[in-house]
Amino acid sequence: MNKLIFATNNQHKVEEIKTLIDDLFDVVSLKEAGISIDIPEPHATLEANAREKSETIFKLTGQNCFAEDTGLEAEALKGEPGVKSARYAGEGRDFNDNINKLLEGLKGKENRKARFRTVISLILNGAEHQFTGVCEGTILTEPKGEKGFGYDPVFAPAGEAKSFAEMTIEEKNRFSHRKKATAQLLAFLSLNAEN
Ligand code: IMP
Repeated sequence: MNKLIFATNNQHKVEEIKTLIDDLFDVVSLKEAGISIDIPEPHATLEANAREKSETIFKLTGQNCFAEDTGLEAEALKGEPGVKSARYAGEGRDFNDNINKLLEGLKGKENRKARFRTVISLILNGAEHQFTGVCEGTILTEPKGEKGFGYDPVFAPAGEAKSFAEMTIEEKNRFSHRKKATAQLLAFLSLNAEN
């Protein structure tokens, strides 16, 4: 089976993507590949950060790999937290602080529309390819649910009452940004990867 290193230390992302790629490819996390490295995200766009991560792992291993970068973009906040999603409340703060900053920023605003955007950067046989997935939705007024990770408790996909944190991985994958980007990655791989 084709091996693909997924350049992330986020176990939630690994689980979400493994349920999608499943038996088509052997997706190996950094931990499973024995690589212990915290890859920086220094750039101003999701595209450049995703590329930074995949290129870092490709230079290190010479193997086919992919990385992704995701941001939550709130319309009324001109696209913030966006590329700053992981450290929105500042370096060293926990995830509740990020959520609280987002809820504070939207307080009193009528427009609570937001979208998750995922950019996947694949390096296959040394060449880079990118795939994007978007999930439109709204930011809730308070956190709901215990599942998922990150901003999941305050995000509900368009037309849904449940937050992502109230959904199983399978339910979340019916809507998710990461699912849509991964579907494109899979379609590309099934056309271009050798068996
Ligand atoms: P990154 O792609 O790991 O840089 O993610 C940016 C931030 O968005 C992180 O703090 C994640 O926790 C959060 N995030 C990424 N994907 C999701 C998601 O699917 N749901 C909720 N939060 C997410």
